Formats: sequence, C-alpha cells, structure tokens
Amino acid sequence: MTLFERRIAPAHPTPQDLKDRRWIFIPYDRFTDRTGPLTEQAAEKTGIILVESTAKAHRRPYHKKKLVLLISNMRHFALEQAAHGCSVVYHFSPHSHATALLQLQRGLPLLNITTTRPAERELRIDIAAATKLGLQLKIVPDTTWLSTTEDFTTVFGPYKPGRSYVMDRFYRAQRQKSGILMDGQKPRGGQFSFDAENRRPYKVQVPIPAPPSFPPDAITQEVIEYVAREYDHHFGEIEGFDGPCTQSDADAAWSFALNNLLPHFGPYEDAMRDDELQLFHSRMSGLINLGRLLPARMIADVERACTDGLIPLASAEGFIRQLLGWREFMRHLHEQTDGYRLLANHVPQEKTKLPESDPYAGAAPSALNASLPLPAAYWGVTSGLHCLDTVVAQVIREGWSHHITRLMVLSNLATLCGFSPRELTDWFWFAYVDAYDWVVETNVLGMATYADGGLTATKPYVSGAAYINKMSNYCGHCQYDPKRSTGEGSCPFTALYWTFLERNEPVLGSNFRLQMPYTTLRKKSATELVQLRARAEEAIAHLQSFKRPEY
Ligand SMILES: Cc1cc2nc3c(=O)[nH]c(=O)nc-3n(C[C@H](O)[C@H](O)[C@H](O)COP(=O)(O)OP(=O)(O)OC[C@H]3O[C@@H](n4cnc5c(N)ncnc54)[C@H](O)[C@@H]3O)c2cc1C
Ligand code: SF4
Repeated sequence: MTLFERRIAPAHPTPQDLKDRRWIFIPYDRFTDRTGPLTEQAAEKTGIILVESTAKAHRRPYHKKKLVLLISNMRHFALEQAAHGCSVVYHFSPHSHATALLQLQRGLPLLNITTTRPAERELRIDIAAATKLGLQLKIVPDTTWLSTTEDFTTVFGPYKPGRSYVMDRFYRAQRQKSGILMDGQKPRGGQFSFDAENRRPYKVQVPIPAPPSFPPDAITQEVIEYVAREYDHHFGEIEGFDGPCTQSDADAAWSFALNNLLPHFGPYEDAMRDDELQLFHSRMSGLINLGRLLPARMIADVERACTDGLIPLASAEGFIRQLLGWREFMRHLHEQTDGYRLLANHVPQEKTKLPESDPYAGAAPSALNASLPLPAAYWGVTSGLHCLDTVVAQVIREGWSHHITRLMVLSNLATLCGFSPRELTDWFWFAYVDAYDWVVETNVLGMATYADGGLTATKPYVSGAAYINKMSNYCGHCQYDPKRSTGEGSCPFTALYWTFLERNEPVLGSNFRLQMPYTTLRKKSATELVQLRARAEEAIAHLQSFKRPEY
C-alpha cells in the first residue's frame, strides 16, 4: 500500500455513507470546493469520487511534469476533502473515467451520482458511451466558467459554416454584461483594450522577481517516482518538479503573481528572452485549467488591485482580457464546432488524420493544405535555429512556455513550413501542462496556424525574422543573420515567410489584413524570388533531415 492509499483509507465510505451522502464525481480537471456541487451541502453530507485512469494517461505521451501536476493535485484534493469531513472513493483504474465510474456505480453500489458538465469533449464522449451502457449521472452546469453558451450565441448566433468569430466582440459584450472594469456603460480608461500599448521588448528595464518554488512533499514525491517508473517513455523531463500541488500552494502562487508580476504584465506581454522563461506572465494556466484557481476570483483580485493603484490599467485590462475574453471564447468555439469537426464540409482536411474508429482522434482541418510531418526539432533535436531550440528546451524542461513563444516561434515556424496542424496540435497537447482539448485545439488549429480557414483569427499569425529580432534577444545569440533573407547564414524565417505568402496566395492574397506584405511580395524581382525559394526549401529539408522519436 502506498503512503497516499494509507492516508486516504480512513475516508473510504461505510455502507451508511454510500446511502446517506450526496455523491459527486470530480472530473480530473475540476479540483475545487469553492464553487459547484461541493458548496451545496456540508462536508459531512458529501461523498466524492475520483478516478485515476491509466487509460487516459497513456492516451498520449503527456509530459511527465503534466502527469505529476495533475495526479498530485488530484491526490491532495482527495486528502483535503477528507480532512474537511467528506467521504472519498479514490479509484485506480486501467479503464476510461466513465467506464470506471460505471463499474463503481454497479459495484458499491452508488445509485445517485452528480457531476459538473465536463470541460473536455473527451470526457463528455466517454460519459455518453458509458451512459448508453447504463451509467446514471446527474450532470449540472460547470460554474467555474464565466459565461454561458447563450452569452456566446447572443453575440454570434448559432454556428454557421463560413462565419468568422472575432474575440473582441465577445469580450466587449462580457465586459458590459459583467460590469468588470466598467464605469457605468463606459470602459474604464475610455477604451476596452489597451493591447496596442503592450508591445515592448524586455531589456531588463525592471527586474523579474523569482517565482516561488513548492518543494515536493511525501505525497508528491510518491507521484514523481510513480510517473518516472510508469511513464518513463513520455515526453519531457521530470527532474526538478516544484509545482503547486495543494490548494494553499495554488493560492500562494497566485498571490505572488498578482503582487509581483501583474504590475508589469502589459508592457512586456509580447517580449521573449532566452534567459527568462516566464517574464511577467502569471504561469497560472495549469492551475486554472485544473480548477484550483477560479477566474472569477482572479479577475476580482486584479480589478481591486487596479482600483487601488497597484496594477496599471493597461496591465490589468490585458490580463483580464485573457481570462474573460480569450479563455471563454476558445471554449465556446470548441463546443460550437464540436472540436472543429463541423468544419469538415467546408474547410480542406488532412485526409489521413481522422480514423473514424477512434473516438478520441482529433479533427484535422488544414485550410492552407499543410501536411508535412512535424520535425524532430520539436522533440529536442538541435536545429541551429536559436529561437526554436530555446523554446523547445524550455518546454522539455518545464512543460510550459509563454504565449508569444507558442505563437510566434513554435507555431509560426510550423505554419511557414507547412507542417501538419494536427500533428502540431497533438504535440502541444502532450507537451504542455495546461493543454486540454477545448483550449489546445482552438489555439493551435484556430489562432496559431489558420488551419480553420479564418474562423478564429482574421489572418495567420506569421512573421519573418524582423518581429522575432525586435521582440526577443534570440537573434543576437543565433548562428543565422536576421537581417539577411537569402544565401548562406541568412535567417530561414524570412525566406520561409515570403514563400509562405507566395504559396498561399490563392487563399490569402485577397485578405485585407495582408495587403501590405502582398504588395511588397509582388514587387520582388524574379531573381530574389528564386533565391528565397531556394533558402526556404533548404531550411525545410534541414529540419526534416533528423529522425524523430516514436511513442
Ligand atoms: C499555439 C498555442 C497553444 C496554446 N495552448 C494552450 C493550452 O493548451 N492551454 C492553455 O491554457 N492555453 C493555451 N494557449 C493560450 C496561452 O498561450 C496560455 O494560456 C498562456 O500562455 C498560459 O500562460 P500564463 O498562465 O502565464 O498566461 P497569462 O499570460 O498570465 O494569461 C492569463 C491567463 O489567461 C488565459 N489565456 C490567455 N490566453 C489564452 C488563450 N489564447 N486561450 C485560452 N486561455 C488563455 C490562461 O488561462 C492564462 O493563464 C495556447 C496559445 C497558443 C498560441
Ligand atoms: S536569426 Fe532567425 S533562426 Fe535565429 S533566432 Fe533569430 S529568428 Fe530565430
């Protein structure tokens, strides 16, 4: 028996508990007693069910630190609820969550089980399949979200093929509805978004405080050893895990970010450094997506700090926009499009990527017909592109990197080269601690690669070396020259950028937001175009020349 099993054993229900208590199934990403069904009765009247499913953990080669973060938070949540007086059924299963739940319902037995509506489509289809086999589950709304489906459809209407969704419209409506950062009907500071002010490179203008570390306790240590043993072949490093695993760790991590990082969040939001992983980003996504931190409380904290003059308005607004705007927008978009499956009839698809027999296989839109295999550099084989190698090394080490590195390095390169958007999505899904279907598929297939044909973003987020050079210190440490676009030693990004535009002119040439670069492209001489094509082809061939690991 493990230490965790010994500690949780006293909370196992008696036959009377099984009959008398209200039983609540806690999904693997909703560890909260601050909202939802756990708040509706006393702990002495509550029983919770948690399932550690190895079927789910083996479904993808999830980063080892992601598995540790999730499993350790799950075990600590069970112990925390037991300490409050809940009965706990903590079940280890080789099956999916819902199959395990069905077995528990029949075996214990547990007639009435409540759960919140799962955030992940994967869990929803898992539950739907088990329900057909007899699982009886009362599903209640998930109150960790800030908006409802109606909030989304009121702005955009029901899903219609070909429609494009602009996040800003949804965000404004949410600000108006909630009154957050509003002075009556007017946005505080006279504008809804201060995004244009938030684009400074970081040149050590203000020191970056070191984030707190949470050394593993005995329960986490046991999880680390278990993951190292059972999931040794998975992506990423496990060494040095010091993530928050209890509710008080999560609260301390947020308090640090609120007081020390958010005051400078806005101006350096888009900056990238090879010597700084986090800059002024909160790094809270892993905890938010596990339900440990509630966006409503975080937004209230930020708004209060802004009112008290502790966080400048541009930073407060920038941060609130991510939670109230982007995060909610993405999950609605995922649900409205059934994880982008509804795009199949009107957006080109990667033909081989959706085996119908696998209910968990992801949708594979590819509006720009990109389908090259994702190269080994994403698994840590050194490419010589310093920006790429730096970010991949960060992800291998931590299972996390901040937004702009995800968008303007990892996804930018993949989009420019024409790597498969589905493979890139799956890579993000297993490599990042905060990745779940509703947020990773929308961000990669939608925002980052334009694979959805413009549903999420009005143009592809692509750039040559100039943007990366301006916003980071990468290029100063790279063997390639960001100022040159052709010939030996030139940065591959710029040649890839121009050939990307050229290759995709039939789809993108009339996009009003790309008229400036297309005008420049059309003025390029035939000789320069030949040289750009040669440099781009050479760069792609170089990246594809290394063998990547298989799982
Ligand atoms: C290619 C790509 C893949 C991404 N994959 C994920 C993912 O798997 N999981 C994930 O949570 N975010 C994802 N994002 C969004 C964003 O990059 C991360 O939420 C953010 O970097 C997390 O770091 P942070 O907590 O420091 O965020 P901060 O910069 O401090 O922002 C605060 C919070 O806002 C939310 N947020 C910000 N942007 C987004 C967004 N675009 N979509 C949803 N929530 C957002 C997050 O909860 C984040 O914690 C992805 C973005 C891109 C471009
Ligand atoms: S020169 Fe090019 S490859 Fe090197 S870091 Fe800069 S953008 Fe990346």
